[in-house]
Amino acid sequence: MTTTPARLTVLAGPTAVGKGTVSADVRARYPEVWLSVSATTRAPRPGEIDGVHYHFVSAEEFDRMAQSGELLEWAVVHGRNRYGTPRGPVEERLAAGVPTLLEIDLQGARQVRESMPDARFVFLAPPSFDELVRRLVGRGTEGAEERERRLQTARVELAAASEFDHVIVNDEVTRATDELVHVMGVVRA
Ligand code: 5GP
Repeated sequence: MTTTPARLTVLAGPTAVGKGTVSADVRARYPEVWLSVSATTRAPRPGEIDGVHYHFVSAEEFDRMAQSGELLEWAVVHGRNRYGTPRGPVEERLAAGVPTLLEIDLQGARQVRESMPDARFVFLAPPSFDELVRRLVGRGTEGAEERERRLQTARVELAAASEFDHVIVNDEVTRATDELVHVMGVVRA
C-alpha cells in the first residue's frame, strides 16, 4: 500500500501573536502532527530544550547548514539571530504521509512558497494590534530595545496577512489550534 504524501502547512504571523503557544498546544493535543524543529543561532531561554524546541547551533554551524543546502529556508529574524528549517526531517515526514507543520517567520514562509507552492499557508493574527502590544509587553522576556525591534517587525508582518491562504485569529488558543488542525486536514477516526 502506498501512502499519499502529506501536504506541508506553514504557520506564520507577527511576533508575540502566540505562534509558540498554538504550536505547543498542537504538540500536546495533536501528536499525529509533526512539528518541525528549527535551527537557531539564538541562545536558549529558560526551560527550552535543545532538539525539542530548537536545535541551538553556533553561527559557524548555521553557516555550514545553510551553505550545504540542508535548510529548506532560513532568515535573520528581528534583525538579529538566524533561524532555519532543516530540510531532511521535513521531507522524510511528508514522504511518510505525516501532517507536518512549520512555525516560521514571514520571510521564511515566502521562501517556502517559492520552493513548495503546494504547501498551505496559514497566518495567525492577533484580535487587534493593541492586543499584540499587550502580549509582547506581558511576556516580559525581552528588554525595551528588543521589544521595540520586534514591534517594528510585527507592524510590517501584519500587513502581509493577505498573502496567506487562511487567516486564523488567535482569540483563544484552544479554538485557534482546533481551526489550524482543521485547515491542515487532520481528521480523527
Ligand atoms: P523566538 O526567538 O521567539 O523563538 O522566535 C522568533 C521568531 O523566529 C518567530 O517569529 C518564529 O516564528 C521565527 N522562527 C522560528 N523558527 C524559524 C525558522 O526555522 N525559520 C524562520 N524563517 N523563522 C523561524
